[in-house]
Amino acid sequence: MRAVPITTHGGPEVLALREVAEPAPLAGDALVRVRACALNHLDLWQRRGIARVGLALPHIPGSDIAGEVVEGGPSGLAAATRVVVHPGLTCGRCAACVAGHDSLCDHYGVVGYQSEGGYAELVAVPAGNLLRIPDGVTFEAAAAFPLTFLTAWHMLLSRANLRAGETVLVIAAGSGVGQAAVQIAKLHGARVIATAGDARKLEAARALGADEALDHYAAGLTDEVRRLTGRRGVDVVIEHVGEAVWDRVLKCLARGGRLVTCRATSGYHGALDLRALFARQLSLMGSYMGTRADLDAAWAAFTRGELRPVVDSVLPLADAAEAHRRLETHAQFGKVVLQI
Ligand SMILES: [Zn+2]
Repeated sequence: MRAVPITTHGGPEVLALREVAEPAPLAGDALVRVRACALNHLDLWQRRGIARVGLALPHIPGSDIAGEVVEGGPSGLAAATRVVVHPGLTCGRCAACVAGHDSLCDHYGVVGYQSEGGYAELVAVPAGNLLRIPDGVTFEAAAAFPLTFLTAWHMLLSRANLRAGETVLVIAAGSGVGQAAVQIAKLHGARVIATAGDARKLEAARALGADEALDHYAAGLTDEVRRLTGRRGVDVVIEHVGEAVWDRVLKCLARGGRLVTCRATSGYHGALDLRALFARQLSLMGSYMGTRADLDAAWAAFTRGELRPVVDSVLPLADAAEAHRRLETHAQFGKVVLQI
Protein backbone atom coordinates (compact mmCIF):
# COMPACT_ATOMS: atom_id res chain seq x y z
CA MET A 1 0.00 0.00 0.00
CA ARG A 2 0.98 3.65 -0.26
CA ALA A 3 1.85 5.46 2.96
CA VAL A 4 3.94 8.30 4.33
CA PRO A 5 6.05 6.72 7.06
CA ILE A 6 8.65 8.55 9.13
CA THR A 7 11.84 6.78 8.11
CA THR A 8 14.23 9.30 9.65
CA HIS A 9 13.74 12.28 11.98
CA GLY A 10 14.03 15.78 10.54
CA GLY A 11 12.14 18.57 8.82
CA PRO A 12 8.99 18.18 6.73
CA GLU A 13 11.16 17.17 3.76
CA VAL A 14 11.71 13.71 5.30
CA LEU A 15 8.07 12.89 4.54
CA ALA A 16 7.47 11.19 1.21
CA LEU A 17 4.99 8.79 -0.30
CA ARG A 18 6.37 5.25 -0.20
CA GLU A 19 5.26 1.71 -0.87
CA VAL A 20 5.03 -0.24 2.40
CA ALA A 21 3.62 -3.57 3.57
CA GLU A 22 -0.09 -3.67 4.38
CA PRO A 23 -0.94 -3.86 8.10
CA ALA A 24 -1.69 -7.29 9.53
CA PRO A 25 -4.67 -6.97 11.91
CA LEU A 26 -4.29 -8.74 15.27
CA ALA A 27 -7.13 -10.58 16.99
CA GLY A 28 -9.60 -7.90 18.06
CA ASP A 29 -8.58 -5.49 15.32
CA ALA A 30 -10.53 -4.09 12.42
CA LEU A 31 -8.98 -3.12 9.10
CA VAL A 32 -9.95 0.33 7.80
CA ARG A 33 -9.45 1.85 4.36
CA VAL A 34 -8.34 5.37 5.31
CA ARG A 35 -10.07 8.22 3.45
CA ALA A 36 -8.99 11.18 5.57
CA CYS A 37 -6.47 11.76 8.34
CA ALA A 38 -6.20 15.05 10.23
CA LEU A 39 -2.87 16.34 11.52
CA ASN A 40 -2.00 17.03 15.14
CA HIS A 41 1.05 18.60 16.77
CA LEU A 42 1.83 15.09 17.96
CA ASP A 43 2.65 14.23 14.33
CA LEU A 44 5.19 17.06 14.17
CA TRP A 45 6.88 15.94 17.40
CA GLN A 46 7.14 12.39 16.10
CA ARG A 47 8.69 13.60 12.85
CA ARG A 48 11.22 15.82 14.65
CA GLY A 49 11.97 13.15 17.27
CA ILE A 50 10.81 13.43 20.86
CA ALA A 51 13.41 13.65 23.60
CA ARG A 52 13.08 10.73 26.02
CA VAL A 53 10.70 8.88 23.68
CA GLY A 54 12.30 6.34 21.43
CA LEU A 55 10.09 5.94 18.39
CA ALA A 56 10.85 2.80 16.43
CA LEU A 57 11.32 3.76 12.77
CA PRO A 58 9.91 3.47 10.24
CA HIS A 59 6.66 4.61 11.82
CA ILE A 60 3.38 5.74 10.22
CA PRO A 61 1.90 8.72 12.11
CA GLY A 62 -1.70 9.96 12.06
CA SER A 63 -4.13 9.82 15.01
CA ASP A 64 -7.35 11.33 13.60
CA ILE A 65 -8.62 8.79 11.09
CA ALA A 66 -11.84 8.44 9.08
CA GLY A 67 -12.47 5.79 6.47
CA GLU A 68 -14.37 2.69 5.44
CA VAL A 69 -14.40 -0.72 7.07
CA VAL A 70 -12.56 -3.40 5.11
CA GLU A 71 -12.82 -6.09 7.80
CA GLY A 72 -14.89 -5.21 10.85
CA GLY A 73 -13.45 -7.89 13.13
CA PRO A 74 -15.31 -8.14 16.47
CA SER A 75 -17.09 -4.81 15.81
CA GLY A 76 -19.52 -6.67 13.54
CA LEU A 77 -19.55 -3.63 11.25
CA ALA A 78 -20.08 -4.54 7.60
CA ALA A 79 -17.52 -3.79 4.93
CA ALA A 80 -17.82 -0.25 3.52
CA THR A 81 -19.36 1.13 6.73
CA ARG A 82 -18.11 4.70 7.18
CA VAL A 83 -16.25 5.05 10.47
CA VAL A 84 -14.10 7.37 12.52
CA VAL A 85 -11.45 6.00 14.89
CA HIS A 86 -11.32 6.75 18.64
CA PRO A 87 -7.63 7.63 19.07
CA GLY A 88 -7.24 6.20 22.60
CA LEU A 89 -5.61 2.77 23.04
CA THR A 90 -6.51 1.13 26.36
CA CYS A 91 -6.19 -2.33 27.89
CA GLY A 92 -9.85 -2.56 28.94
CA ARG A 93 -8.89 -4.64 31.99
CA CYS A 94 -7.00 -2.48 34.52
CA ALA A 95 -8.75 -0.79 37.46
CA ALA A 96 -8.86 2.58 35.66
CA CYS A 97 -10.40 1.04 32.52
CA VAL A 98 -12.98 -0.92 34.52
CA ALA A 99 -13.93 2.26 36.41
CA GLY A 100 -14.48 4.14 33.13
CA HIS A 101 -11.39 6.33 33.66
CA ASP A 102 -9.77 4.70 30.66
CA SER A 103 -7.54 7.67 29.80
CA LEU A 104 -5.74 6.76 33.07
CA CYS A 105 -5.15 3.21 31.79
CA ASP A 106 -1.86 1.68 32.90
CA HIS A 107 -1.16 0.92 29.24
CA TYR A 108 -2.64 4.05 27.65
CA GLY A 109 -1.55 4.85 24.13
CA VAL A 110 -2.59 6.93 21.15
CA VAL A 111 -3.38 5.54 17.69
CA GLY A 112 -0.67 6.71 15.30
CA TYR A 113 1.81 7.11 18.15
CA GLN A 114 1.91 3.82 20.06
CA SER A 115 0.50 2.11 16.96
CA GLU A 116 0.78 2.67 13.22
CA GLY A 117 -1.48 5.52 12.11
CA GLY A 118 -3.48 6.97 9.28
CA TYR A 119 -0.92 8.42 6.84
CA ALA A 120 -1.63 5.31 4.79
CA GLU A 121 -4.22 3.62 2.62
CA LEU A 122 -4.96 1.01 5.29
CA VAL A 123 -4.79 0.97 9.08
CA ALA A 124 -5.47 -1.75 11.68
CA VAL A 125 -7.10 -0.49 14.89
CA PRO A 126 -8.94 -2.16 17.78
CA ALA A 127 -12.45 -2.93 16.52
CA GLY A 128 -13.94 -1.33 19.63
CA ASN A 129 -12.44 2.02 18.62
CA LEU A 130 -14.72 2.46 15.60
CA LEU A 131 -17.63 4.91 15.63
CA ARG A 132 -20.07 5.20 12.74
CA ILE A 133 -20.06 8.39 10.67
CA PRO A 134 -23.63 9.55 10.01
CA ASP A 135 -24.82 10.30 6.48
CA GLY A 136 -24.09 13.81 5.36
CA VAL A 137 -20.81 14.10 7.31
CA THR A 138 -17.73 14.05 5.10
CA PHE A 139 -14.65 11.95 5.89
CA GLU A 140 -12.66 15.19 6.17
CA ALA A 141 -15.01 16.70 8.79
CA ALA A 142 -15.13 13.40 10.71
CA ALA A 143 -11.33 13.09 10.75
CA ALA A 144 -11.02 16.67 12.01
CA PHE A 145 -13.06 15.85 15.12
CA PRO A 146 -11.80 13.13 17.51
CA LEU A 147 -8.56 14.18 19.17
CA THR A 148 -9.20 17.86 19.81
CA PHE A 149 -12.86 17.51 20.79
CA LEU A 150 -12.09 14.50 22.98
CA THR A 151 -9.36 16.49 24.71
CA ALA A 152 -11.47 19.63 25.21
CA TRP A 153 -14.54 17.66 26.35
CA HIS A 154 -12.48 15.83 28.97
CA MET A 155 -10.91 19.09 30.18
CA LEU A 156 -14.17 21.02 30.54
CA LEU A 157 -16.60 18.35 31.71
CA SER A 158 -14.70 15.43 33.25
CA ARG A 159 -11.91 17.49 34.84
CA ALA A 160 -13.30 21.01 35.47
CA ASN A 161 -16.89 19.79 35.97
CA LEU A 162 -18.18 22.87 34.13
CA ARG A 163 -21.66 24.08 35.09
CA ALA A 164 -24.10 26.32 33.21
CA GLY A 165 -23.69 29.98 34.04
CA GLU A 166 -19.97 29.75 34.79
CA THR A 167 -17.37 31.81 32.96
CA VAL A 168 -14.61 30.02 31.03
CA LEU A 169 -11.38 31.59 29.79
CA VAL A 170 -10.09 29.70 26.73
CA ILE A 171 -6.43 30.52 26.08
CA ALA A 172 -5.38 30.25 22.40
CA ALA A 173 -8.86 29.77 21.01
CA GLY A 174 -7.41 29.59 17.50
CA SER A 175 -5.87 26.18 18.21
CA GLY A 176 -7.71 22.91 17.62
CA VAL A 177 -8.33 22.33 21.32
CA GLY A 178 -9.26 26.00 21.76
CA GLN A 179 -11.83 25.93 18.96
CA ALA A 180 -13.36 22.80 20.44
CA ALA A 181 -13.35 24.25 23.97
CA VAL A 182 -15.16 27.45 22.92
CA GLN A 183 -17.94 25.43 21.31
CA ILE A 184 -18.26 22.84 24.09
CA ALA A 185 -18.34 25.52 26.81
CA LYS A 186 -21.06 27.48 24.96
CA LEU A 187 -23.04 24.27 24.41
CA HIS A 188 -23.07 23.77 28.19
CA GLY A 189 -24.33 27.25 28.99
CA ALA A 190 -21.07 28.94 29.94
CA ARG A 191 -19.95 32.46 29.18
CA VAL A 192 -16.73 32.25 27.15
CA ILE A 193 -13.84 34.68 27.10
CA ALA A 194 -11.40 33.58 24.39
CA THR A 195 -7.87 34.74 23.66
CA ALA A 196 -5.97 34.58 20.39
CA GLY A 197 -2.86 36.07 18.87
CA ASP A 198 -4.14 37.94 15.83
CA ALA A 199 -7.22 39.75 14.53
CA ARG A 200 -8.30 36.94 12.20
CA LYS A 201 -8.26 34.35 14.99
CA LEU A 202 -10.05 36.73 17.37
CA GLU A 203 -12.83 37.18 14.82
CA ALA A 204 -12.99 33.44 14.22
CA ALA A 205 -13.28 32.81 17.97
CA ARG A 206 -16.27 35.15 18.10
CA ALA A 207 -17.79 33.34 15.11
CA LEU A 208 -17.50 30.05 17.04
CA GLY A 209 -19.53 31.58 19.86
CA ALA A 210 -17.04 33.30 22.19
CA ASP A 211 -18.72 36.13 24.07
CA GLU A 212 -15.48 38.09 24.34
CA ALA A 213 -12.20 37.78 22.45
CA LEU A 214 -8.92 39.22 23.78
CA ASP A 215 -5.43 39.51 22.34
CA HIS A 216 -3.29 37.23 24.52
CA TYR A 217 -0.14 39.18 23.66
CA ALA A 218 -1.64 42.37 25.11
CA ALA A 219 -0.03 43.45 28.39
CA GLY A 220 -3.34 44.06 30.15
CA LEU A 221 -4.87 40.61 29.64
CA THR A 222 -5.40 39.95 33.37
CA ASP A 223 -6.89 43.40 33.96
CA GLU A 224 -9.21 42.98 31.00
CA VAL A 225 -10.45 39.59 32.24
CA ARG A 226 -11.05 41.06 35.69
CA ARG A 227 -12.91 44.01 34.17
CA LEU A 228 -15.11 41.68 32.09
CA THR A 229 -15.99 39.62 35.18
CA GLY A 230 -16.73 42.48 37.57
CA ARG A 231 -13.27 41.97 39.16
CA ARG A 232 -14.28 38.43 40.19
CA GLY A 233 -12.19 36.41 37.71
CA VAL A 234 -13.24 33.32 35.77
CA ASP A 235 -14.44 29.98 37.11
CA VAL A 236 -12.48 27.84 34.66
CA VAL A 237 -9.33 28.37 32.58
CA ILE A 238 -8.62 26.06 29.62
CA GLU A 239 -4.90 26.31 29.00
CA HIS A 240 -2.24 24.68 26.85
CA VAL A 241 0.27 27.45 26.16
CA GLY A 242 2.24 27.02 29.38
CA GLU A 243 5.10 29.19 30.53
CA ALA A 244 4.41 32.27 28.38
CA VAL A 245 0.98 32.85 29.92
CA TRP A 246 1.12 30.91 33.22
CA ASP A 247 1.54 33.84 35.66
CA ARG A 248 -1.16 35.88 34.00
CA VAL A 249 -3.78 33.15 33.65
CA LEU A 250 -3.41 32.12 37.31
CA LYS A 251 -4.36 35.69 38.23
CA CYS A 252 -7.50 35.42 36.08
CA LEU A 253 -9.02 32.72 38.32
CA ALA A 254 -11.89 33.55 40.66
CA ARG A 255 -11.99 32.17 44.20
CA GLY A 256 -12.59 28.45 43.85
CA GLY A 257 -11.48 28.63 40.21
CA ARG A 258 -10.20 25.61 38.30
CA LEU A 259 -7.38 25.65 35.77
CA VAL A 260 -7.02 22.69 33.41
CA THR A 261 -3.96 22.31 31.21
CA CYS A 262 -3.26 19.72 28.53
CA ARG A 263 0.02 20.96 27.06
CA ALA A 264 2.81 23.52 27.51
CA THR A 265 3.82 24.60 24.03
CA SER A 266 5.76 27.73 25.09
CA GLY A 267 7.73 26.17 27.96
CA TYR A 268 7.35 23.73 30.82
CA HIS A 269 7.91 25.83 33.93
CA GLY A 270 5.55 28.04 35.86
CA ALA A 271 5.86 29.58 39.33
CA LEU A 272 3.10 29.36 41.87
CA ASP A 273 2.40 31.54 44.90
CA LEU A 274 1.16 28.88 47.32
CA ARG A 275 -0.73 31.52 49.33
CA ALA A 276 -2.97 32.13 46.32
CA LEU A 277 -3.48 28.38 45.85
CA PHE A 278 -4.88 27.80 49.34
CA ALA A 279 -6.35 31.18 50.24
CA ARG A 280 -8.26 31.44 46.96
CA GLN A 281 -9.00 27.67 47.01
CA LEU A 282 -7.80 27.14 43.46
CA SER A 283 -7.64 23.79 41.68
CA LEU A 284 -4.90 23.13 39.14
CA MET A 285 -5.49 20.07 36.99
CA GLY A 286 -3.67 18.21 34.26
CA SER A 287 -5.54 16.51 31.45
CA TYR A 288 -4.45 14.18 28.65
CA MET A 289 -6.70 12.95 25.86
CA GLY A 290 -10.03 11.70 27.31
CA THR A 291 -12.20 8.69 27.94
CA ARG A 292 -14.29 6.69 25.53
CA ALA A 293 -17.38 8.06 27.31
CA ASP A 294 -16.13 11.61 26.65
CA LEU A 295 -15.75 10.87 22.95
CA ASP A 296 -19.14 9.16 22.71
CA ALA A 297 -20.81 12.21 24.30
CA ALA A 298 -18.92 14.66 22.10
CA TRP A 299 -19.56 12.59 18.96
CA ALA A 300 -23.30 12.48 19.77
CA ALA A 301 -23.32 16.29 20.02
CA PHE A 302 -21.45 16.46 16.70
CA THR A 303 -23.98 14.18 14.98
CA ARG A 304 -26.79 16.42 16.29
CA GLY A 305 -25.06 19.36 14.62
CA GLU A 306 -24.18 21.04 17.93
CA LEU A 307 -20.41 21.01 17.41
CA ARG A 308 -18.45 21.55 14.26
CA PRO A 309 -14.77 20.92 13.62
CA VAL A 310 -13.09 23.64 11.61
CA VAL A 311 -11.24 22.33 8.55
CA ASP A 312 -8.49 24.68 7.41
CA SER A 313 -7.36 22.80 4.35
CA VAL A 314 -7.43 19.41 2.65
CA LEU A 315 -4.32 18.10 0.88
CA PRO A 316 -3.55 14.79 -0.81
CA LEU A 317 -1.45 12.28 1.18
CA ALA A 318 1.45 12.90 -1.21
CA ASP A 319 1.58 16.48 0.10
CA ALA A 320 2.09 15.43 3.76
CA ALA A 321 5.29 17.50 3.92
CA GLU A 322 3.41 20.62 2.82
CA ALA A 323 0.66 19.85 5.36
CA HIS A 324 3.29 19.65 8.13
CA ARG A 325 4.77 22.99 7.04
CA ARG A 326 1.34 24.58 7.23
CA LEU A 327 0.79 23.39 10.80
CA GLU A 328 4.36 24.10 11.85
CA THR A 329 4.22 27.74 10.77
CA HIS A 330 0.80 28.30 12.39
CA ALA A 331 -0.52 29.32 8.96
CA GLN A 332 -3.68 27.31 9.56
CA PHE A 333 -6.94 28.10 11.31
CA GLY A 334 -8.54 24.75 12.02
CA LYS A 335 -7.48 21.26 11.11
CA VAL A 336 -5.19 20.39 8.23
CA VAL A 337 -6.51 17.17 6.72
CA LEU A 338 -4.86 14.66 4.41
CA GLN A 339 -7.06 12.96 1.84
CA ILE A 340 -6.15 9.41 0.97
ZN1 LIG B 1 -6.46 -0.19 31.19
